[in-house]
Amino acid sequence: MTEPGDNWGAWDRQHCWHPFTQHAGWASEGEELILVRGEGPWLFDAEGRRYFDGNSSIWTNIHGHRHPRIDAALRMQLDEVAHTSFLGFGNPRAAELAKRLTAFFPSGSLERVFFSDDGSTAVEVAVKMAIQFRQQSGEPERVGFIAFENAYHGDTMGAASLGGVSFFFDRFRSFGFRATRVTSLADLRALPAEEVARAAAIVLEPLIQGVNEMRPWPAGQLAEIRSWCDGHGVHLILDEVMTGFGRTGTMFACQQEEVIPDFLCLAKGLTGGYLPLAATLTTGRVFDAFLGGRERTLNYGHSYTANQLGCAAALASLRVFEEDRVLEKLPARVEALAQGLRAITHSSVHEVRQCGLIAGLELRQESGKRFSAGERMGERVCSAARAHGLLTRPIKDTIVMMPPLCSTEAEIAEACAALGRAVKEVG
Ligand SMILES: *Cc1c(COP(=O)(O)O)cnc(C)c1O
Repeated sequence: MTEPGDNWGAWDRQHCWHPFTQHAGWASEGEELILVRGEGPWLFDAEGRRYFDGNSSIWTNIHGHRHPRIDAALRMQLDEVAHTSFLGFGNPRAAELAKRLTAFFPSGSLERVFFSDDGSTAVEVAVKMAIQFRQQSGEPERVGFIAFENAYHGDTMGAASLGGVSFFFDRFRSFGFRATRVTSLADLRALPAEEVARAAAIVLEPLIQGVNEMRPWPAGQLAEIRSWCDGHGVHLILDEVMTGFGRTGTMFACQQEEVIPDFLCLAKGLTGGYLPLAATLTTGRVFDAFLGGRERTLNYGHSYTANQLGCAAALASLRVFEEDRVLEKLPARVEALAQGLRAITHSSVHEVRQCGLIAGLELRQESGKRFSAGERMGERVCSAARAHGLLTRPIKDTIVMMPPLCSTEAEIAEACAALGRAVKEVG
């Protein structure tokens, strides 16, 4: 709790190293925002100011902060135990969660769940499974990965090797592994046969690429990629770290094109945005290839694999989806977001891209040219929005609007109005 005399801002400036942050010139004294409390889609800073959580606390929060039933589930779990090893032991929460996650898919498809900690590790383990599966299925020559330009799959070395955002990874590129990069379905179809024959898997973010400034894929492309995979014996890894758990309007994005991947990576929204927990789902066929002697084992895992608190939060979040009929309420909220963003008519608004409750509003010069990076338009609009009670972040000059699914139409309209005011002030 707040102790008078605590100086979190100063301690932060002196001792913390923030993610993706250039600390030179960052948050000078008195400017740092220390978030101390949340309620529903709202966050409160140390001074008691209230903000709308416009990017769902970096794309994680689903049902709002301090949801009474998720809080209660965590308190109950604390009365049992917080964490026990999943190496050699089971636990009730993980067992039930695995059962529930696989139940979203037809029986005989995604049947197994491997737990890890975050989106990067969910992808990392899919990569290792995909390679070892080939080694143990008589196709050791299939060692390659196909990935999309401008994709983002996380920051650990393996996941980052699949990523296509050069700004993040180019300096480490020679330390990672090589992925064949494509930009479209046409590109994929044009790959040389030798390249395809040595591919273990293709990885993509279904329906919409997040870090690529919120860019939706053409409708139908996902299903086309699935059939391309089937035709060429290449596994499909879907990274639903951002799109999972209702964000696109259905529980999982892949359901919109009736696609079932060979590996499904889940994280961010899995616990409702409460705790770091990730899951990699795969088929019985993949799992079976790891049965046999010791040498066929998947030697991979983390200390906190299947953490009981995390699994309890995830189970509670899934129950909230059912009890509150969350998916049924989404269409009206998705429409409110579309309307609210459409109402921002300033000349610097170049394009609004949206998929469910994921949206990006791209700012450009009136001529259609991008602003120079030095103008920091996106950042400036987001800091202006802060003064109007909206917290979010830009990706370059695209402002992310990704409200928690619990946000009402009125709250979404209010948040869009705040963004509109910020755009007018800065633009
Ligand atoms: C955020 C994200 C990741 C990485 O997840 P972390 O939890 O940050 O490791 C991977 N893929 C996608 C699509 C993401 O949005």
